[in-house]
Amino acid sequence: MPDSLESTSSTAGWRLDHSYARLPQSFHSRVDPTPVREPKMVVLNRPLAEALGLNADELNDAAVFAGNALPPGAEPLAQAYAGHQYAHFTMLGDGRAILLGEQITPSSERFDIQLKGPGPTPFSRRGDGRAALGPMLREYIISEAMHALGIPTTRSLAVVTTGENVFRQGSQPGAVLTRVAASHIRVGTFEYAAARGEKADLQALADYTQQRHYPEAEGGYAALFEAILERQAALIAKWMHVGFIHGVMNTDNMALSGETIDYGPCAFMDVYDPATVFSSIDRNGRYAYGNQPHIAQWNLARLAEAMLPLFHDDEKQAIEIANGLISRFEERFLHHWLAGMRTKLGLFTEESEDKDLIQALLDWMRDTKADFTNTFRDLTHGRLEPMEWHQQWSERLKRQPQSTSDVTDLMRRSNPAFIPRNHKVEEALTAASDHGDLNPLQRLLTVLAAPFDHTQDLAEFSEPSELDSYQTFCGT
Ligand code: AMP
Ligand code: MG
Repeated sequence: MPDSLESTSSTAGWRLDHSYARLPQSFHSRVDPTPVREPKMVVLNRPLAEALGLNADELNDAAVFAGNALPPGAEPLAQAYAGHQYAHFTMLGDGRAILLGEQITPSSERFDIQLKGPGPTPFSRRGDGRAALGPMLREYIISEAMHALGIPTTRSLAVVTTGENVFRQGSQPGAVLTRVAASHIRVGTFEYAAARGEKADLQALADYTQQRHYPEAEGGYAALFEAILERQAALIAKWMHVGFIHGVMNTDNMALSGETIDYGPCAFMDVYDPATVFSSIDRNGRYAYGNQPHIAQWNLARLAEAMLPLFHDDEKQAIEIANGLISRFEERFLHHWLAGMRTKLGLFTEESEDKDLIQALLDWMRDTKADFTNTFRDLTHGRLEPMEWHQQWSERLKRQPQSTSDVTDLMRRSNPAFIPRNHKVEEALTAASDHGDLNPLQRLLTVLAAPFDHTQDLAEFSEPSELDSYQTFCGT
């Protein structure tokens, strides 16, 4: 450990292991965080700390979350990876993230503990390795909201400010986010191994991924791929069910654990429109709401390409296997999408016309510019103006044995009352970033921690955004 980094007491409950560091050398690079001037805690996720087996009171030490002090047993490293960014292949790597290790929880689960914004790494290229407070709080807010919505996601343990400024569009307060993830293995990690061309390394990565995330997928690499595809299909369906737009579904931002990762330009859709895009750089709508399933399949095709040498020694046969696997995505996505949409409409049984019924509602929403979340919320509360579609829906409900109260219960569990509304997110970020006022942030986090609480009528948290042409930004 270098002189500049202090060690911290072990009473905090750290139990760090380093399985990723045992992968071949090419996958990582040892690097320490660069200490910052004045670490200051902005937000600490106490329930998450407890779930990780960490003592939140002992943890209330901004130095650790700024990278100024290392938790006992930490062996910091940056991960190597590549990725297709907007369909262009690039060598990337953790340019502004450092993995401290894997926390082993009291129930023997393993979670990456990663600092985002802790200073340069060998992969930083021309970047400063730093992050600004606004975007780190944004990741904290949205990832924790996704978790509460029941959507697999990386989580946020803490955000600290650094006492230093970063220069983006102007000068902004610098910050470090501590990200907690099932792992940080990406599609791009496989692309990196494939591009280097060392089959032994690729195989080591695939075996590691299988053991860490898919212990049940024992039938070889095709079975592993199938299991990965299944989890991605389920994940993207869940995004669609809540109107989540990831915004930058590059292959380096797709985690093989099946968790949502990398909250840059993401945002939730207000008015239902499949063409909705918030990201300032997504001019052609590659990552638009309605295009997300297609892009997930495209990314999985890049994964299959990288895994070709593992599917078969003969390239032609390997490609045939890969094509067969990738072609299953549409059916698997549709399966998960339909299942979730049925619950949103209170449907317990399955009928072949359900897809048309759902589509008719979506078409109506698009034509009338209806708010996605509030339409389902109003249906749940029985307070949407009856329209032609209602008739079909109530007839459909009558053809299942469940009672009205069963239907309402299911709908309340499936349709959030509260999502991170863009105007509320911006309000919280501006107050924190520009005025040092954390009250709007704390209030928003409290509301978003219980998204299915239909007993509260908090109008300002459920109103659609009035921000015209809302824009979000990458890598800030
Ligand atoms: P992202 O758009 O956040 O997925 O980032 C894409 C790539 O750019 C990743 O390899 C990041 O590590 C890298 N990157 C983003 N911002 C910075 C920064 N400020 N300094 C160094 N690398 C960065
Ligand atoms: Mg990324």
